[in-house]
Amino acid sequence: MTDQLINNDALAKTTITFIIGAPATGKTTFINNHFSDSGNTVILNIYDYQQAAYKEAGFGKQVSLGHEFKCLYKANENLLVDIIKALQEGKNVVVEQTLYKAKRRIAYIDAIRNSFENIAIEVYVMCPSDSVWETYIIERKLIDSIQRLKANAKEIEFPNPSEGFDSIYEVVDDVIKLRMDEPKPEIVDSARKELSEESQQMKQEEEKAKERLDLLESMNSRPFWHYCEVCGAKVFCTAQDAFNAGWDYPPQLGTFGFLGPRTCGECDITGTLYWKVQQQALPIVVESMLTEEELKTWKRIKNEPESLL
Ligand SMILES: [Zn+2]
Repeated sequence: MTDQLINNDALAKTTITFIIGAPATGKTTFINNHFSDSGNTVILNIYDYQQAAYKEAGFGKQVSLGHEFKCLYKANENLLVDIIKALQEGKNVVVEQTLYKAKRRIAYIDAIRNSFENIAIEVYVMCPSDSVWETYIIERKLIDSIQRLKANAKEIEFPNPSEGFDSIYEVVDDVIKLRMDEPKPEIVDSARKELSEESQQMKQEEEKAKERLDLLESMNSRPFWHYCEVCGAKVFCTAQDAFNAGWDYPPQLGTFGFLGPRTCGECDITGTLYWKVQQQALPIVVESMLTEEELKTWKRIKNEPESLL
């Protein structure tokens, strides 16, 4: 860290430093110039955690919005774990983050302050001038225009001392300026409330997903109803027994909840709803065009595996 950055309070204390800002605002370069990832300082980047979370969830670069939120949430959680670990080892930590929202920063600060009594928390907000920003964008070969990135950067809520920072710096090109705005204590309570609701909801969703996974897993061994949609045969047995008897049924064949043949060993695929739909110009199920029997089959398939228990 250069002399001008050293905050006297921070000298004796372990320090965590957040470097935040929009894409291509020079966060990494700033870190390289002012901090070194050696000895007593650990540098962490949220980007690495996000990539790991996407990978773990089985995604490449394309992620659906609902899953993206979950992945980002997971990435934030994992990063926080590593921050706490490094601080416990007495290391200073520098974190490259986006952290546009006060709420997200408060989540980190609360967790850190709850774990450590004597710690300095500071943040540098990258606010480059247009011309410098444009240079970075060109260097990084980003397809985003500066207009788009600027619109994006407007989403950034500038950090407020009430969030729990000891020092807040605004970085405009090469100039680092301490900027402590008027405290806004009211933002903290509402952020904490939202965070706790969010974490509760996340926990519930995780539990639901786990239950679903356990149920699907149990279908490999438990007996369940096998319905032949062609002849109407109905047998309560395990997947293995059904398979041995010639049934076409998930989990051995096809996937629960997705249209596919559901037949006993005697019947043929050509009598199935799946077959009928495949013959259509557009192979999708249109409920209003189904017979009563087909509708029953379709509803049962849609509600698998619960509909088979
Ligand atoms: Zn049959």
